[in-house]
Amino acid sequence: MVATSPIEPQNPTQTSGQRYLVSSDLPLAERSPNQELLPLTAKLNGRDRLEIGGCDVTELVERYGSPLYILDELSLRTACRHYRDALAKHYPGESLAVFASKAWSCQAVAAIVASEGLGTDVVSGCELQTSLTAGVSADRIVFHGNNKSRRELEQAIAAGVTVIVDNWLELETLAKLAGDRADRDRPLPVMVRFTPGIECHTHEYIQTGHIDSKFGFDPDGMRAVFEFLSKTASLACIGLHAHIGSQIFETQPHVDLPQVMVGWLQLAREFDLPVNTINVGGGLGIRYTEADDPPSIDAWIETVAKSMKTACERAGLTELPRLMCEPGRSLIGSACVTAYTVGSQKTVPGLSHYITVDGGMSDNPRPITYQSLYRAVVANKMTAEATQAVTVAGKHCESGDVVIKEAALPDTEPGDILVVMGTGAYNYSMASNYNRIARPAAVLVEGGEANVIIARETDEDLMRFDRLPARLTSAR
Ligand SMILES: *Cc1c(COP(=O)(O)O)cnc(C)c1O
Repeated sequence: MVATSPIEPQNPTQTSGQRYLVSSDLPLAERSPNQELLPLTAKLNGRDRLEIGGCDVTELVERYGSPLYILDELSLRTACRHYRDALAKHYPGESLAVFASKAWSCQAVAAIVASEGLGTDVVSGCELQTSLTAGVSADRIVFHGNNKSRRELEQAIAAGVTVIVDNWLELETLAKLAGDRADRDRPLPVMVRFTPGIECHTHEYIQTGHIDSKFGFDPDGMRAVFEFLSKTASLACIGLHAHIGSQIFETQPHVDLPQVMVGWLQLAREFDLPVNTINVGGGLGIRYTEADDPPSIDAWIETVAKSMKTACERAGLTELPRLMCEPGRSLIGSACVTAYTVGSQKTVPGLSHYITVDGGMSDNPRPITYQSLYRAVVANKMTAEATQAVTVAGKHCESGDVVIKEAALPDTEPGDILVVMGTGAYNYSMASNYNRIARPAAVLVEGGEANVIIARETDEDLMRFDRLPARLTSAR
């Protein structure tokens, strides 16, 4: 059930924005959103324009301003359903998928994933508050982080969410905090994160599973951790966690991981720990360019589930542990596009043609941080033939502020709406105010309706945090 868009060769004269539109015969609900370049509802309308969620993208920009994040509700919901349904289909034990909020944390997104039966993973007090305010139930929230503050640990305990313990300092602090609670007779349930020691071939900065990582306990110290937990009456170790990395297309790492983790579970049980959850983290990749070929959500879950079942059989476990996973990018990455307005252009004879947009590294730091690749279309000229390979540059004072190096685009002019695809993950959540540029708004689109879910920042918002000491004003 792999749905792919028709991929044409990278010959700029043969291509146009239409080539990224889905033309598969599969019903929308069966297409794995992480395998698409555009959101599932993307269409060409009668005005030669791109439409998402029943809304004309060019009109959305006229109405809500530029740049604009446009989030397609149906794509996000479909990805949630694929995780939920695949777990139910391929894993006979209990299971839960939680959305890694760091990919895009805001109330609307948390409310949507919760309404589809998923939980969230949070890594800060404010991400926690966002999930709780949006109605995510505390028993479906896990709290991550390699340097949680004491206050964050207290917030987590007070809210009743499960802390995923990362290191010794935290383990000792938690043991104490748990022992000081009013209901200290009931041990505080926690999970423990280990570095799995599994390599995968993604960009170095998004590898977390190899041994030299800042996240989680070193597996060599596992016995000591389990021994400490077995002697600490205030804590109950209910689960084990590992996360390999991100934007992974290979399935082998997630065949190996459950096998490694079931071994850990057996060791934990030797220490009489009540471990019954295995949390394999996130990591499934998405299609950013036609060269990317990630497995579908269903196929990824099937791989993990099979490997869990096999490992449990081999270990002679009579009951399957609860299986958790924490997808971020593959839930929301392909559900969103960023619409920019084209401005100045520059030709360096014999070298490059630059077209500049009204955003860049402040709203999408991934190209400059990870050399990530993206694809774009011109929303108001969807059927125009691509005539040039251009460099789409951002407007920031940084030569590396390039959104796309070789974008096959039609002739563009100032005022055209350039849409960059696959910007749902790690764009809004990593956005900055570099050059004191206010961050874009985000709209959620569905059935021809658009709702603002992130209001556009204004220059006044930025000035609001700025203080000029009196002695500097008097000198003027
Ligand atoms: C980043 C992260 C995730 C989500 O990763 P994706 O690649 O976005 O799916 C899940 N769990 C943990 C612990 C993470 O650090």
